[in-house]
Amino acid sequence: LQDNMQKLQPILDRVRASGVMNRIAGQDHPAQSGKTFANHSPVDESHICEVAQSGSADVDAAAQAAKVAFPAWRDFPAVERKKVLHAIADGIVARAEEIALAECWDTGQAIRFMSKAALRGAENFRFFADRAPAARDGQHLPSPTLMNITTRVPIGPVGVITPWNTPFMLSTWKIAPALAAGCTVVHKPAEFSPITARILMEIAEEAGLPPGVWNLVNGMGEEAGKALTEHPDIRAIAFVGESKTGSMIMKQGADTLKRVHFELGGKNPVIVFDDADLERALDAAIFMIYSLNGERCTSSSRLLVQDSIAPEFIARLTERVNNIRVGHPLDPQTEVGPLIHKVHFDKVCSYFDVARQDGATIAAGGAALDQPGHYVRPTLFTQARNDMRIAQEEIFGPVLTVIPFATEEEALHVANDVAYGLTGYVWTNDLTRALRFTNALEAGMIWVNSENVRHLPTPFGGVKASGIGRDGGDWSFEFYMEQKHVGFAT
Ligand code: NAD
Repeated sequence: LQDNMQKLQPILDRVRASGVMNRIAGQDHPAQSGKTFANHSPVDESHICEVAQSGSADVDAAAQAAKVAFPAWRDFPAVERKKVLHAIADGIVARAEEIALAECWDTGQAIRFMSKAALRGAENFRFFADRAPAARDGQHLPSPTLMNITTRVPIGPVGVITPWNTPFMLSTWKIAPALAAGCTVVHKPAEFSPITARILMEIAEEAGLPPGVWNLVNGMGEEAGKALTEHPDIRAIAFVGESKTGSMIMKQGADTLKRVHFELGGKNPVIVFDDADLERALDAAIFMIYSLNGERCTSSSRLLVQDSIAPEFIARLTERVNNIRVGHPLDPQTEVGPLIHKVHFDKVCSYFDVARQDGATIAAGGAALDQPGHYVRPTLFTQARNDMRIAQEEIFGPVLTVIPFATEEEALHVANDVAYGLTGYVWTNDLTRALRFTNALEAGMIWVNSENVRHLPTPFGGVKASGIGRDGGDWSFEFYMEQKHVGFAT
């Protein structure tokens, strides 16, 4: 811990001195109003830095810069684009430790997970860099009278709006394909965690990305974010965040006919049948809700366990949850760090009372730690029913709700009986059941006998209130590009 704190200090000194400014057309800019807002660490509420609080004039300047830069970036040879994106990935790898330390201090995420998240950001750039040269490829669809040719072109300047959970990795996940497609970008990071988006931007410019291709505007969602979604020169909005914010963005973007891509909330089930490998299922169930502070869209926040194995499974789970190490995010031993912000901490803690009122049992945790910072004990609710709020609402913390079931039909009904449909995790060694169950489970992504393992060519996204559209592989290009058809008479 001491070692990491020492390494963090010069990073904090730098960010405190400069603040987090906007970056527009390769230049630093304070907000035109001169306003800033304070960014605090969830570790001890200490002031980290001031951040530009932008309004519509700043967003307009950034959108203009992205518009001006668009034709040249669109026509930039794709093989050269590939090189720049690989150079960004190299820059991320070179500064991975700095990124991880800054992100932990800014968000409260434990360093053991964050060092991997920074490197995954580099992988996101490499993956889309390699696909950039083929992004425009189309098809040849001849008919008796026409030579039909399709091609793809980048849609234009796009807005990217990201949340505070794993903000660095998620920014790369959205921005890398946009740049690879030939779009220019205005990025509005989350107000609770602005630091690493700024580092990423610096890396991109040092890697040779031309000014204006990628612009950074900080500020509040209802102000800067809203202005971005309403801007007429921004052709599409890639958004990651809460479902209710997605609804607002859809309304805000209606007048300018925005194309939208939404990665939203989840209340994902992990379903454990009595024939499963229970050791592995237990490990995965714990990892998928108690890593990354449970502040993870794909977390399995509902555990559906078959009643024949439930007592023993829950007893072992309870023991494990009570042994999870909560602590300083820069301590390599820490598994759960402080929650991002006081507002979010209060929200998560409010569910302890909700669980009691609804009649669930608090088998582990259910309280904050009695110390400064936004620390909560890893929490396990048992004896829950699916109609309780703790089973229906996204808590977004290290909080798991256990619901027993008797039959496969009941498990399926409970799994699907929520507003969300992002991921599902099914544990069974019965192949026929796995096929039948996954076929009927309402989720965009399902893993059988596995925790969430991301494979970048596969589609990422949710159904129902969990999102619209898919990322990954060619799906990202479908969002950031337009299909164009030309028919030649023969
Ligand atoms: P949020 O919706 O509150 O904020 C996300 C971003 O939207 C922020 O940058 C915010 O400033 C901006 N914003 C807020 N109001 C806006 C408006 N009216 N117009 C434009 N922008 C606006 O979400 P959050 O609390 O930062 O993030 C947590 C949520 O994100 C959770 O619900 C989580 O499940 C979801 N999430 C989903 C995925 C996924 O892939 N499905 C991934 C990560 C996080």
